[in-house]
Parts: sequence; structure tokens; C-alpha cells
Amino acid sequence: MRPLTYARATDAEGAIATVEADRRAAFLAGGTTEVDLIRQGVEQPRLLVDINALPLAGIEDRPDGGVLIGALARMSDVARAPGVAGRFPVISQALLLGASPQLRNMASMGGNLCQRVRCGYFRDGVSPCNKRDPGSGCAALEGVNRGHAILGTSGSCIATHPSDVAVALVALDAVVHTRGPLGDRAIAIEDFFLLPGDTPQREHPLEHGELIVAIEVPAAPVARQSAYLKFRDRESYEFALVSVAAAMRVEDGIVAEVRLALGGVATKPWRARRAERSLLGQPAERASFAAAAAAELSAADTRPANAFKAELAQRAMIRALAETAKGDRR
Ligand SMILES: Cc1cc2nc3c(=O)[nH]c(=O)nc-3n(C[C@H](O)[C@H](O)[C@H](O)COP(=O)(O)OP(=O)(O)OC[C@H]3O[C@@H](n4cnc5c(N)ncnc54)[C@H](O)[C@@H]3O)c2cc1C
Ligand code: SF4
Repeated sequence: MRPLTYARATDAEGAIATVEADRRAAFLAGGTTEVDLIRQGVEQPRLLVDINALPLAGIEDRPDGGVLIGALARMSDVARAPGVAGRFPVISQALLLGASPQLRNMASMGGNLCQRVRCGYFRDGVSPCNKRDPGSGCAALEGVNRGHAILGTSGSCIATHPSDVAVALVALDAVVHTRGPLGDRAIAIEDFFLLPGDTPQREHPLEHGELIVAIEVPAAPVARQSAYLKFRDRESYEFALVSVAAAMRVEDGIVAEVRLALGGVATKPWRARRAERSLLGQPAERASFAAAAAAELSAADTRPANAFKAELAQRAMIRALAETAKGDRR
């Protein structure tokens, strides 16, 4: 038995000060990740500060075409918000392909970005795991690693980042707004997710007590023709083996603008910049899509059990690009 205190915050400043004051305090939003990890003994906070009463659940359409999503907005509310579904279908689709309806009703956007990896060795609480117990080793390197990463890996950790919506947000250059003991910050979402390197225990640049308050998605007309494809072992309630967020603008048969990001294959939501560079100015046809996908996956670091992901990711990219090209009527 470990004692655990629960407190309900009524304003952001109070929540931040309370968590900052205790190294073993944590924010609690929907609880769909945090409570599991506490039950498994992976997280051991002694104080949970419930932030659900804070006014951070809004979803605001910006006049310039962007959207500001409060950190406490629920995944299901964001998925069906007209300003999100209409302007950024890739975000809606990524959300609706994640978790289950019940979980999406509870789970918040801020919590989604902060969810921990699904690596079985991390979650069993006892295996060598540099992320849970720095310096203890990585059981996945020589263990069961079929679902593990092939991009952005290090000798310390090969766990994939599990979020779906983060992949769409990375493709769209979203910005994470935070408030913390040192004031307000705006963090580009690609910088929000850290590669494991030698410090896999550090997954994002948040300081202790720093609260995500909102996620800003800047205007991106290209996103009106966007799609999220997700491939997994079963049709629902399952994390991605490979996923792709794609948006593309084609002019006179040529790729004029493209956004691509991958999930399920990398240690962070992966912006496929090599593929984007390869595609720009090329004919919007299968050969260009295949060359771009091959360029991105040329950096893959595979193991016998997860080598299939390199091929699957390329096929998924080709299909996602073909679908967005077909949908582009401009
Ligand atoms: C069975 C199952 C299947 C799932 N499948 C998928 C899936 O397919 N795709 C997918 O993307 N996700 C999936 N998830 C993950 C789910 O989306 C996350 O659990 C959820 O989004 C977390 O949100 P929450 O509000 O419940 O966070 P909590 O559990 O309350 O918090 C999670 C973490 O975030 C921190 N936190 C929460 N809010 C803030 C904030 N505003 N600022 C700073 N820190 C904060 C907490 O301290 C905690 O460390 C699944 C989860 C489960 C249990
Ligand atoms: S892959 Fe990462 S999370 Fe999994 S055991 Fe290795 S260090 Fe831990």
C-alpha cells in the first residue's frame, strides 16, 4: 500500500504551485493513463492534483483559419468540433481511430500528448528499462520488439510514441502552450517530443509543475485535403503498428505543398521531412510517392521482428498520398 493524496485545483496558478512544491506530485486530467500507471506501480506520485475544474476545455476557431484547443478538451469533443473536422480532417480522423469511444470521452488533449509508452517492459514494472529506471538497460533490444521503433531509436530505448493525434499535430506544425513556475511558453510540437538518446526517461521539455494550457493549430489550407491512415493488429482499441498523417496540394499535376508524418514506427511522432523534400515539385503519381517513402525509410534501424514495419510504412505512405491526391480538386 502506498498512500496517495488527492487535491482538486480551482485555478491554474494554484495547480501549478501545488505540483511544483512537491517532486512527487502530478497533474490528473482524464486519468486514463495516469491511473493505470499508478496501479502498475510504474508511476508513484504521492499527490494527484485534479485539474478538471480549470477552464481549459474550449475549442476556439480562429478567424485566420487556425484553431486553439484547450488542454482539457476531450478527444471526442475535439474530433467532432466543426472547425476541426472541416479545417483539419486529419486531426478528427486520428482522434477517432484512437482508443475507444469511452476512453475518448474521458481522455484530454493535454494528457494525450503526455501519455507514456506502451512497451511491455516499461509497464511490467520489473524488467530492465532505461525509461522507467535510468541505467538499468533495455530489455526490448534483445527481447520482444515486434511493435518497437525503427526510426529515432538509440541504444538506450526503442519504444514507439503511442499517440495518434500527435502525429497529425506534428504534420500541421502545431504549437503547445504551457504555463509554469517560470511563466508562459510556446513550444513547437516537434520540439515538444524528445528523442530518447541517452536520456529516454525525459520525453518532453516540460519542467516539473509546468501545465499544458492549449494546443494551437495554425491555419493550413492544405489540411482541408488531409487524411490519417492507421494500420494495427485489430480494427479497434489498438495502437498503431504504422500510421500516416498526410496533406497535399497538387497544382497542374505537380506536388505544390505536402505535409507528412508517421506514427507507430518512431520514438516520437515523426515528421517525414525527407519524403516531403523528395515530393515537392514532382508529379503527383505513384512513382514519386514510392521514391519519397523509400527516402524516408532509408534511415530505418530494424530488428528481425520489426523489419516488416519498413515495408508497411512505405506502403501506407503511398496509399495516404494517393488518397489525398485523389481528393484534391484544386
Ligand atoms: C486501452 C487504451 C487504449 C488506448 N489507445 C490509444 C490509441 O489508440 N491512440 C492514442 O493516441 N491513445 C490511446 N490511448 C491513450 C489515451 O489517449 C490517453 O490515455 C489519454 O489521451 C490521456 O489523457 P488523460 O486526460 O486521461 O490523461 P491523464 O491520464 O490524466 O494524464 C496523463 C499524463 O499527462 C499529464 N497531464 C495531463 N494533463 C496535463 C496538462 N494539461 N499539462 C501537463 N501534464 C498533463 C498527467 O500528469 C499524466 O502524467 C489509449 C489508452 C488506453 C487506456
Ligand atoms: S524500449 Fe524503452 S521503454 Fe522499452 S524497455 Fe527499452 S528503455 Fe524501456
